[in-house]
Amino acid sequence: MSRTNLSRRGFTGSLLAATALSACAVQPEAPAKARVVVIGGGFGGTTAAKFLRLEDPGIAVTLVEPKSAFSTCPGSNYVIGGLSKMSDITHGYAALTGVHGVRHVREMAVAVDPVAKTVRTSGGQTLAYDRLVMSPGIDLRWGAIAGYDEAASARMPHAWQAGPQTELLRRQLEAMPDGGVVALAIPGMPYRCPPGPYERISMIANYLKTAKPRSKILALDAKDAFSKQPLFQDGWAALYPGLIEWVPLGKDGKVVEVVSGEMTLVSDFGQRHKVAVANVIPPQFAGKIARDAGLADQAGWCPVDPFTFESRQAKNIHVIGDASIAGAMPKSGFAASSQAKFVARAIAAAINGRPAEAPVFANTCYSLVGPDYGISVADIYRSTPQGIVAVQGAGGVSPRTPADAAAFRHLEAMYTHGWYASATKEIWG
Ligand SMILES: Cc1cc2nc3c(=O)[nH]c(=O)nc-3n(C[C@H](O)[C@H](O)[C@H](O)COP(=O)(O)OP(=O)(O)OC[C@H]3O[C@@H](n4cnc5c(N)ncnc54)[C@H](O)[C@@H]3O)c2cc1C
Repeated sequence: MSRTNLSRRGFTGSLLAATALSACAVQPEAPAKARVVVIGGGFGGTTAAKFLRLEDPGIAVTLVEPKSAFSTCPGSNYVIGGLSKMSDITHGYAALTGVHGVRHVREMAVAVDPVAKTVRTSGGQTLAYDRLVMSPGIDLRWGAIAGYDEAASARMPHAWQAGPQTELLRRQLEAMPDGGVVALAIPGMPYRCPPGPYERISMIANYLKTAKPRSKILALDAKDAFSKQPLFQDGWAALYPGLIEWVPLGKDGKVVEVVSGEMTLVSDFGQRHKVAVANVIPPQFAGKIARDAGLADQAGWCPVDPFTFESRQAKNIHVIGDASIAGAMPKSGFAASSQAKFVARAIAAAINGRPAEAPVFANTCYSLVGPDYGISVADIYRSTPQGIVAVQGAGGVSPRTPADAAAFRHLEAMYTHGWYASATKEIWG
């Protein structure tokens, strides 16, 4: 659907329907102007639900999310490295429901009917919408690495969706004897959080350095270059000399098979790595509900209009966050939240007959290389008919050789924690 379809004209029919079908209204005495259903209570979905209500309290917003509390992937590497606890990265929905008046349906969305404009939930409810916002995140592609299925992930955790897998990987590191090899299998692009695997390597190295100093990390990568690479590698050389071996694609780093019973990773050219702990991060695609609704392309991600994030496949459905194809924007929580705020504003504008504004998006990805050693990359993005592009000269990465390096890295470590606190407070607080 084109930008113009976000106009009042496009909404007239659905507003009439909204009046007749106001089952989700949060203010029973006054029928809602329109109903928006949001699928997924992570970075994108929770932000969208909250900001829709801030934009216009007359819009009835229903969040469909089975969890009662959300554990963030940002910060989960610090749990794995022993710097934080799960409770530090887990947030409930009390403010969203109590303060902002979002209705929380604690069920899975199991089917979307884009023609009838309804969402069916695992509990058998049918929720009618005028607009649907989908932010279901990622699913793991079981079987994309031969032998890596859900059962294998109980021995070789992915820990790429924060929760029990995060704790499992932490426990395995604690139980591992000193001198063991910790392997990571890292996917090719695109995947959730481009710098995430390298921050994880750093946090595991920080733990091993003191707790198991004879151990090593073997990072097997399906690509030849990665986000903030020179900064990470400078940090590894300074903080963890000799502890990390990174094997790029060109040196047979791609893992194509695992034998979980033997704790063995097999590379493209048949090298077999038997290790003590294996963190296998498989290739990914958009969450199942988006794929089942027919919103994904052949690669498994959802094409969207760069100006509205409305699905290219279905009208009145906006796909944001990791599940969407957002041009130059990375799959990050910061990006998902930035997209969500814009989409909330655009939907509220359409409902109220205002023209949509030109979108501007932002992203900053902070990473800890050590507890007191932070690095970052930041960008601003604009929409063009060809897609979302980074604004030249508007972003940047941390310098490799700042004047007072220790003070600079220390400050960026503080900013890392500051970003997390402010982002999660804004979304769930
Ligand atoms: C180790 C790691 C570190 C990271 N660090 C950072 C960082 O420092 N900064 C940063 O910006 N990003 C970071 N990220 C990336 C960030 O976690 C994701 O980009 C972000 O969570 C994407 O938001 P989302 O809304 O698309 O999906 P999510 O936040 O994953 O939310 C999806 C939600 O949808 C729900 N859901 C799925 N299907 C359904 C359904 N059918 N019905 C109802 N609900 C459903 C899920 O339960 C989930 O709660 C990191 C990721 C990893 C793995």
